[in-house]
Amino acid sequence: MTLSPANLRAFDLLVDTILPAVPGDGAAWNTPGADLRLSAGLPGVYEALPHQRDRKDLALFLRLLDSAAGGLVLFGRAAKFTNMAPDQRAAALLAMEGNRVEIVRKGVRALKTLAAFLWVTTDDPHRPPTAWAAMRYPGPDGLPPTTPKAITTEGVSRDSTIECDVVVIGSGAGGGTAAAALTAAGLAVTVLERGGYNNESDFTHLESDAYGSMYLDGGLGSTSDGGVLMLAGSTLGGGTVINYTTSLATPDSVREEWDRVAGFPEVFAGDGDESSLASVQERMGVNRDNGSPSARDQVLEKGIRNLGWHLDEMPRNAVGCTDEACGYCTMGCRIGAKRSTLATYLQDAAEGGARFFVDAVDRLIATETGRATGVIARVGDHDLTVRARAVVLAAGALNTPALLQRSGLGGRAAGRYLRLHPVTALWGRFEDRIEPWAGRLQTRYSDEFADLDGRGYGFRFETAPVHPLFPAAYVGWENGPSFKRDILGLGHLGVAGILLRDRDHGHIAVRRDGSPLWKYRISSFDQAHIREGVRRAAELLAAAGATEVFSSTIRPVRWVPGQGTIEDLMAGTDAVGYGPNKTSYLSFHQMGSARMGSDPATSVVDADNQTHDTAGLYVMDGSCFPTASGVNPMISIAATAHRGATRLAERIA
Ligand SMILES: Cc1cc2nc3c(=O)[nH]c(=O)nc-3n(C[C@H](O)[C@H](O)[C@H](O)COP(=O)(O)OP(=O)(O)OC[C@H]3O[C@@H](n4cnc5c(N)ncnc54)[C@H](O)[C@@H]3O)c2cc1C
Repeated sequence: MTLSPANLRAFDLLVDTILPAVPGDGAAWNTPGADLRLSAGLPGVYEALPHQRDRKDLALFLRLLDSAAGGLVLFGRAAKFTNMAPDQRAAALLAMEGNRVEIVRKGVRALKTLAAFLWVTTDDPHRPPTAWAAMRYPGPDGLPPTTPKAITTEGVSRDSTIECDVVVIGSGAGGGTAAAALTAAGLAVTVLERGGYNNESDFTHLESDAYGSMYLDGGLGSTSDGGVLMLAGSTLGGGTVINYTTSLATPDSVREEWDRVAGFPEVFAGDGDESSLASVQERMGVNRDNGSPSARDQVLEKGIRNLGWHLDEMPRNAVGCTDEACGYCTMGCRIGAKRSTLATYLQDAAEGGARFFVDAVDRLIATETGRATGVIARVGDHDLTVRARAVVLAAGALNTPALLQRSGLGGRAAGRYLRLHPVTALWGRFEDRIEPWAGRLQTRYSDEFADLDGRGYGFRFETAPVHPLFPAAYVGWENGPSFKRDILGLGHLGVAGILLRDRDHGHIAVRRDGSPLWKYRISSFDQAHIREGVRRAAELLAAAGATEVFSSTIRPVRWVPGQGTIEDLMAGTDAVGYGPNKTSYLSFHQMGSARMGSDPATSVVDADNQTHDTAGLYVMDGSCFPTASGVNPMISIAATAHRGATRLAERIA
């Protein structure tokens, strides 16, 4: 199914509505949206959408924009969007965003995200988008270095079968760590990774390229209702290659909660977990010597200090960072400072003799008489069967349950209890340039509101590097000139990220084609914590000197400190709401969907990470957490995998 010329014309008119020419402003970047011809890039993005259903929905939405009956459904008027005058189109766009039917809100949102993507990204560093000049966004610092690849990967030229002791599916925080521990014990290990092998020489530092080559589903995935955009790594090294290097250990209170929920006697709070935590912190080079704050983190720090709230420096798994290089290392670290599993555990595993297959999608787990005997993967055009004494699933919390479900394994808890740590943000406009894309990734945080209910649930404040695509896709639209001012004024924006520890959960189902469907609605309990986060973030940004604060709601709610009160802002955000496609959410941390526990009715794996229903089948990734970690989870995942793999090796080596 392809897009028709009429579909492309409807898209150009939508873009013209989102990005109109601003009267009186003749700058070159202020071309009317229709003249940008962003539709030329639409077929490419359309083809890259992760699921056929998404493509069908997109084409249908564009068709509805071009019909009077569609107008009735989308914005309550029997008129063709494509025939309307610009001001009528703007009113129709607002009506679509506020439509009570969620699928309409989801559709218009998805199209706005695609328009943003085509507006501010490029795959050619020599042809920067015109928007970059207005933002004074410099883009990548030249071409990537020529760095040889240190790990040998294998290909498959015909359907093949190989044998080993342990096959590990996925190579991120969990899989990479497990592969190294198993190899160190003398076991023959094979690693299958769905993503490619990208190293320094592939890190172009162009957003479209980085998302396309190193993020799950090209960064275009979301929950089934489109309410939470899903970001996860998909490359050799998984999320650890593109993440922000924050390396917090699991808090003691969370380890105790996990034992309580799992029904374990001191597994997470025991010595084994303690020594695994220490071991991964050491191997991944966690330190507090590389945390000089970016201007973005200085905003956070100033606001928090002025309010007298808790503030601390992030421990980070990065050694030898430089201020110049580091803002872009969420698209891969070119200078080898990030101690990802690619740079640590996977190297160890390779040196110990592990075999690696990339672009290898594991499809099914093979079993015989209740015991896992290997996996069947697709590598390029061929099947690769790996026969093994043990199978370790570490495909991440978004994919591991789907693998279990596709194979009819894991019991009824497989896919349940998905936690996402939903993140929303408030933006502050400052007189000074902040350049939120620049400087070290994440260096400051506040736990002041991490325990709002007396049981450890609340939110944390953090920042993250903000390159153009993120705000262009994430910031709401109220009218063309304001939207352009917000996005093109990116250089003056600071950000307070609200990272929620979600008490409640969603679940994962599998589609007919076997791919996972992530179902998650932020509960009213958790929405109340987000609401408190919005209020506190506004206080924070005002205390840091912001001249204007605005929310990440579908329509930005604005507050000028000194004029009116925070209550005015809250009245505005309350009116829009904190539910899906009302407030914008991203998930960087997915957890809990094949969790550990002693009861097979409510958990998938036991204290040794082995599935309750299938001997020899283990889960060692973020899926294992009994509840959300509350802190950024990489180190907790690596420690859980380290402990599980060490125990597995003791049993079978
Ligand atoms: C932008 C970003 C920033 C982040 N920053 C931080 C941070 O600063 N600190 C922190 O603690 N956490 C951070 N995180 C989260 C952290 O990186 C992840 O929680 C962590 O990497 C998850 O580890 P994992 O082993 O569960 O899965 P992953 O690291 O996601 O690895 C899973 C791997 O399995 C592969 N896979 C999936 N399906 C299959 C299949 N069927 N067959 C074969 N392979 C498959 C995937 O391609 C992927 O490479 C961040 C995440 C993102 C996206």
